[in-house]
Amino acid sequence: HTSVAGFLADEAATLQLGQTLASCLQPGLQLQLHGDLGAGKTTFTRGLLRGLGHAGRVKSPTYTLVESYPLPAATVHHFDLYRFNDPQEWFDAGFADYLATDTLCIVEWPQKAAGVLPSPDLTLELQLADNGRNYRLVAHSETGKACLSRYQT
Ligand code: ADP
Ligand code: MG
Repeated sequence: HTSVAGFLADEAATLQLGQTLASCLQPGLQLQLHGDLGAGKTTFTRGLLRGLGHAGRVKSPTYTLVESYPLPAATVHHFDLYRFNDPQEWFDAGFADYLATDTLCIVEWPQKAAGVLPSPDLTLELQLADNGRNYRLVAHSETGKACLSRYQT
């Protein structure tokens, strides 16, 4: 299967999805997060970082554009490109170098860097539903497919 979908009833479920997916990821992977403001992208990332062993705070990178976490499994770069005015800023900020074989990149608002951001291995779509959220994980590469198959077993 190349996609998985489901419902997240509350914040705890969104955190749990991130935490569970954490153990399926591998270094070099890029995961793009799609969804409106308040959909739960940062909440999901918080769970994912917790799953990778990060014990401290997770700040939303809304103003800093990126927050980096050197963790045992990989260095995780958590981007929020909402404030980009132009996709070219991806290069100006030096972010192209952040995508490496030994890093894990999680990108909120990837559409703000459309055309310059490499295509993702995985995407997560989050959608506001009455009370909770609907989600869909889609694999776009062999790496992404391997990750999803680990998730489903
Ligand atoms: P984003 O990064 O997409 O803008 P945030 O994660 O910052 O969104 O905020 C999402 C908000 O929605 C938080 O207040 C969080 O508690 C809440 N939330 C997250 N997941 C769920 C869920 N499954 N059901 C209801 N509320 C949720
Ligand atoms: Mg956010």
